[in-house]
Amino acid sequence: NKRIATIGDAMVVFNPSKTGPLRFVPSFERAVGGAELNFAIGVTRLDMEAKWISCIGDDEFGKLIYNFARGEGIDVSYVLRTPHIPTSIYFKEIREDGAGKSFYYRNPSPLLELTEDRIDESVLDDVDLLHISGVYLAVCEHNIQVALKLIALAQAKNIPISFDPNLRLKLWTIEDARAVYEKVYPSINLLLTGQDEFELLFEGRTVKDVQESYKIDEIIVKKGEQGATVYTATEHYDREAFSIRAIDTVGAGDAFDAAYVYSYLNGYDIPERLRLANGAGALVAAIKGDNEGLPFLQELRQFIGDEKLIER
Ligand code: ATP
Repeated sequence: NKRIATIGDAMVVFNPSKTGPLRFVPSFERAVGGAELNFAIGVTRLDMEAKWISCIGDDEFGKLIYNFARGEGIDVSYVLRTPHIPTSIYFKEIREDGAGKSFYYRNPSPLLELTEDRIDESVLDDVDLLHISGVYLAVCEHNIQVALKLIALAQAKNIPISFDPNLRLKLWTIEDARAVYEKVYPSINLLLTGQDEFELLFEGRTVKDVQESYKIDEIIVKKGEQGATVYTATEHYDREAFSIRAIDTVGAGDAFDAAYVYSYLNGYDIPERLRLANGAGALVAAIKGDNEGLPFLQELRQFIGDEKLIER
């Protein structure tokens, strides 16, 4: 089985019991989330192995996250625990159309304790791909150094790198994000980005221009209910989304990334990767919660019509 590594925060998520502004929501359901953890769950459900590098609080919520990740079959041997900083939490607001808004309580984040010297040189030894997300880069300043160290380790070992900018303007400014991402782009093989995000980050530059300046093998643009487009140096491929009723689109991008990386590492051609990735994104958007809808391989195959579904 292929193995991926990713690094980032995880949080306890409080999902609202009803839609609308948070101040009118009287109760919440507790779940677990965080872009990088969602990604790790996504690849694990697709029969790959995921090494999740992180630091969580040594508290009740930290224990919940740790057990949850372990239950999903994620390799948690690189998850540190700190008694000094509480595990991060966030509350989610969901609008009628399924769009979400997040309110974070993660400053400081336990990642403050995961410094560069705590990253073992051997961490990527048995890994086939490194996935970095912009959320991680935004959460603490030293995370940038840690990520650059991991990127250098991956490059030294010829391990492909995927990057999702996952722009969170609640965590930093667009100028800061642009400056940091500039350091990352030249090293990556896959850029998995949302369409609006691409426009914000690159201010009117074309995909081709971006691709050529940083020598990125594939730029994958996610377009919500419009599906996605993949650009290589010479070609582009466009695929429609699957038609679903969107309930909660948070996490759809992470699901897409996981399925895209899965099919990339397993040698599928680009149209097939898009089909699987659009399928995984749609399945998450159709279910409340950030990772509850992440499909197992067989569920994904059934949803996209490769396998017949027998209900009873
Ligand atoms: P986020 O980071 O908030 O998860 P994103 O911008 O990375 O979002 P989206 O474009 O919103 O990602 O969604 C990723 C993929 O999920 C889309 O490319 C599409 O395949 C699928 N998807 C998302 N929303 C829908 C929808 N309403 N209907 C069908 N498919 C959807």
